[in-house]
Amino acid sequence: MRPFDYTRAQDAESAIRLLERNPSAVFLGGGTNLVDLMRLGVATPELVVDVARLPYDRVEPLPGGGLRIGATVRNSDLAADPAVRARYPVLAQALLAGASGQLRNLATTGGNLLQRTRCAYFQDVTLPCNKRAPGSGCPARDGYHTNLAILGASPACVATHPSDMAVALAALDAVVQVEGPGGPRAVRLRDLHRLPGDDPSRDTVLDHGELITAVDLSPLPDGARSRYRKVRDRASFAFALVSVAAVVEVAGGVLQDVRIALGGVAHKPWRAERAEEVLRGAPPSEERFRQAAEAELAAAAPLRDNAFKVPLARNVMVRTLLDLAADPAEGPAGSQAGSQAGGPAGNGEAR
Ligand SMILES: Cc1cc2nc3c(=O)[nH]c(=O)nc-3n(C[C@H](O)[C@H](O)[C@H](O)COP(=O)(O)OP(=O)(O)OC[C@H]3O[C@@H](n4cnc5c(N)ncnc54)[C@H](O)[C@@H]3O)c2cc1C
Ligand code: SF4
Repeated sequence: MRPFDYTRAQDAESAIRLLERNPSAVFLGGGTNLVDLMRLGVATPELVVDVARLPYDRVEPLPGGGLRIGATVRNSDLAADPAVRARYPVLAQALLAGASGQLRNLATTGGNLLQRTRCAYFQDVTLPCNKRAPGSGCPARDGYHTNLAILGASPACVATHPSDMAVALAALDAVVQVEGPGGPRAVRLRDLHRLPGDDPSRDTVLDHGELITAVDLSPLPDGARSRYRKVRDRASFAFALVSVAAVVEVAGGVLQDVRIALGGVAHKPWRAERAEEVLRGAPPSEERFRQAAEAELAAAAPLRDNAFKVPLARNVMVRTLLDLAADPAEGPAGSQAGSQAGGPAGNGEAR
């Protein structure tokens, strides 16, 4: 690992100033992704500014009924928060479907959002990769890409974003609060991550030195129900092949509010806007859910070895929506959501 300096930030302002002065400085949250990348030589900062002890470690009510999640709240604490479990089960389920208990105890809200792709070429500095070394090429296209994108990819990069939490937050219309050299700003979670286009080196719209301080959730409609379903190669400790976060409100026999986000399929949490359009105002039915999923996936452009993700995403969307439409008690968020790729989609899920 390349030698680097370490400092623990005393406050947000000085942390931001340190990054402003040094283009090679980075923030450190729980370190569960950044430190791995430093060991691999993928990240080579001169200065690491530890922000994990800044006073953003609380989940607090917002005026109007929402919640503010501090950027240094650990993933375990967030998943266990009573207000999150009761009002946003999709978020607790997504968190518990990610990583392992030990990792979740360290991982922070801010760091989770900004974790980097698990594309094997990105993590191997002996190989070309446009994201790590712009202009060097994308060997994944013709190489190993089983777990890579089917939506929104570009000739330059077909990577996927790995976070489960971010997929739930995209479905919840979360807003990310940021402080930076240019002052504070709010970014919709669905706009935080970028599609790769011709510059895959940039994962998000954040500029160097911008610090995530919180994530805000608006209240959901009274009758809304939510759920996260993740399909992966193993029942735990594995990233999503495909995941679905859905928030649904059925009133008067029709879908009043429906918000769907997909994970494991794109360079960012993929908000399924076409599917939502097909569903909004319609009576819930399996046929309608299937039509909606197919409308969304019509734009899919799978590679040689990941075409299986198209029917998988369709089926996981339909199953998740059927569960939400059929089961008014969405159940506790406290158990591990997810299933193995080969098993029935309901395996091991929170009920
Ligand atoms: C074996 C393994 C399995 C895993 N499985 C899953 C999984 O199934 N699902 C899943 O979602 N995740 C999984 N993860 C990833 C894990 O969730 C992330 O490593 C973790 O969430 C990152 O959070 P952190 O606080 O440790 O971030 P760090 O590693 O500290 O930082 C990550 C990035 O965020 C930046 N950063 C940190 N805090 C801030 C801030 N406040 N403002 C601006 N920038 C900031 C850092 O500079 C860095 O670029 C797995 C990880 C491992 C090692
Ligand atoms: S898919 Fe993206 S991250 Fe993976 S090798 Fe290609 S450019 Fe690099």
